[in-house]
Amino acid sequence: MTALGDLAGVGPKSVALFRELGITTDRELLDYLPFRYDDLRFPTPSSRLGSTGGAEENAVGVIEHIRERRVRGLEIVEARLRDDHGVFVAKWIGRNRYVYGRFRAGMRLFVRGRVERTLAGPSINVTHYAQLGDDETYHGEMVPIYRASKELTTRKIAAVVEKNLPALLALVDEDPLPQALRERKGYPALREAYRAVHAPRAPEEAERARESFIFTEFLALATAAHLRRLERESAHDARALAVPPGLLDAFQAALPFALTGAQRRAIAEIWDDMTRDVPMNRLLQGDVGSGKTLVAAAAIVLCAQNGLQAALMAPTEILAAQHASKLAPLLMPFGIAVEAVFGSQSARSRASALDRLSSGEAACAVGTHALLTEGVDFARLGLAIIDEQHRFGVEQRARLRAKGSAPHTLHMTATPIPRTLAQSVYADLDCSVIDEVPPGRTPIETYAVRTSRLERVYAFVRENVVRGHQAYVVAPAIDDDGESTLTSVVAEAERLKNQVLPDLRIGLLHGRLSAREKDEVMGRFARGEIDVLLATTVVEVGVDVPNASVMVVLDAHRYGLAQLHQLRGRVGRGAAKSYCVLVYPDDAGASERLAILTESTDGFRIAEEDLRIRGAGEFAGTAQSGAADLWIADLVRDIDVYRDAQREAAQILAGDPDLRRPEHRGLHAMLARRPSTRSLVLSS
Ligand code: ADP
Ligand code: MG
Repeated sequence: MTALGDLAGVGPKSVALFRELGITTDRELLDYLPFRYDDLRFPTPSSRLGSTGGAEENAVGVIEHIRERRVRGLEIVEARLRDDHGVFVAKWIGRNRYVYGRFRAGMRLFVRGRVERTLAGPSINVTHYAQLGDDETYHGEMVPIYRASKELTTRKIAAVVEKNLPALLALVDEDPLPQALRERKGYPALREAYRAVHAPRAPEEAERARESFIFTEFLALATAAHLRRLERESAHDARALAVPPGLLDAFQAALPFALTGAQRRAIAEIWDDMTRDVPMNRLLQGDVGSGKTLVAAAAIVLCAQNGLQAALMAPTEILAAQHASKLAPLLMPFGIAVEAVFGSQSARSRASALDRLSSGEAACAVGTHALLTEGVDFARLGLAIIDEQHRFGVEQRARLRAKGSAPHTLHMTATPIPRTLAQSVYADLDCSVIDEVPPGRTPIETYAVRTSRLERVYAFVRENVVRGHQAYVVAPAIDDDGESTLTSVVAEAERLKNQVLPDLRIGLLHGRLSAREKDEVMGRFARGEIDVLLATTVVEVGVDVPNASVMVVLDAHRYGLAQLHQLRGRVGRGAAKSYCVLVYPDDAGASERLAILTESTDGFRIAEEDLRIRGAGEFAGTAQSGAADLWIADLVRDIDVYRDAQREAAQILAGDPDLRRPEHRGLHAMLARRPSTRSLVLSS
């Protein structure tokens, strides 16, 4: 592997431009695949020019007439050409085109460029041309189109790749696909596959090569996941807990309401896992307000009944505090004391909490990242619960678990992950879903409204505040940078304070505030000292202010549906009727997408739609899951290929669980190399 600057045609300036695209080495350039091709193998007959909708086209014709002008250093050359089917115009416009005076009637030309259809016939804006002899047949190519930037065009990238192709292909290392499998699939050899995507002779060849890359990437992913599961299940190092008879009834009896069916099912699945000597690795999914805390409490109770401790980690102090206060009454009937551990607590209370945890006196710890620090020790940690799991990195989760010896692990998330995605991305993870909201909730009323009616929206906010409630107003940007058209919370807060709602108490919350400042603002909002909270999406997760009854999202078209659904979940947590207003620019044309939210409150349905619209790579909540790290495969688009790869992975590991055989050496090496397989976050 060498630096990009060593390649032919790459000077220091292009090195910088390539870096902006994430390409710093020759290997990365090799892996930078075109996302489509212009098929310029055959000239288009003049009668059909302009039917491809924007891609470049080729034509061949004989010049009938030339018009040339120079306007202030600009060359404008227009040639009328004729082929067997009719006439078309070829245009060169620009400085330094060096075509002025070059052409004469009767010359035969090949030209390439985007075609405009005019009343006078098709007109090509020429990017490439060549003079052809009278009988010379034109042989064109497939032109690869790379994702480019303004200054580094796809043409420049293609030129560098083409010039260095032999050197790039020489980098291809050992094939991760065992040869027998590759042959069975009919895929080209690896080096040939790289050649075929960068310089295909025909579209089918490129397509086939792409498929082989997708399959290979999935095979590595599926193999990594499968290995993780095997490893976890083979150790038998977890404590198998016993469920005392009547525990569920006792748990239910201590509650003021009946468990929902979905909660019972989730508890049963979790308890069942915990009775095995294999460490549980389970994801509990449920919309905001679906009652996950209760299920977590049931897991903690089982743990304590078996003499073990539990730790629950949440991403912010507010969330941790809310968990602690919700869990305490649920756990008290079972004699379980909750100790809070978080950053801003006093040294004295911290020391006493740590004492009680290390002595085993306290059976449950609830806290933030502070739980991970040295000095936080457990006498016998049997259960690690991670709330809003996607907010933590692999390493952090591993550190919490390392506080015990092979503890059971429960991950929780309020971001519903469509089943298809969960099964594949989280292949080493079992899933429980709470797909039923506790009875007696009034659904949140949702409206999509154009920006021109924003003043009406604020009038509605005022009405609700006057009735004693509070409101969130969420916007995408923090500051006004003068360029972007996005609404900024800082500017909007000023506007509300000074003009629109001067009589209300306006608060401001965004990601540039320190954790302490954020907690301070949230605290004031929670205590009712702020009427309207202007915030960026930092309010997205978990915060519970039951008195808030209106959620206004500005520039709602900028958010994914799942994220909007999350934001909506911030209201409707109390008894009052709640509203969510999605505001989008009059010209944004987002109404159809937003309509899904006005019609449905089912997080899973919304997540599926979101996934369908945006693709797995961008799907909210999977940013750290590995899905976003995939190279060319897409878990939604290519889910069938994934399933196929999953079967093959199982077969490979059944015969060679350690990937020791020579034919699996390439696959083994790939597992170590690809970020997507390394970051199978949840499974680790
Ligand atoms: P989540 O963490 O999934 O967002 P919570 O566990 O905080 O949801 O529960 C939301 C609210 O619903 C809490 O006030 C809780 O007491 C209440 N709740 C939970 N389960 C039930 C149930 N089965 N019946 C009625 N209310 C419930
Ligand atoms: Mg919760």
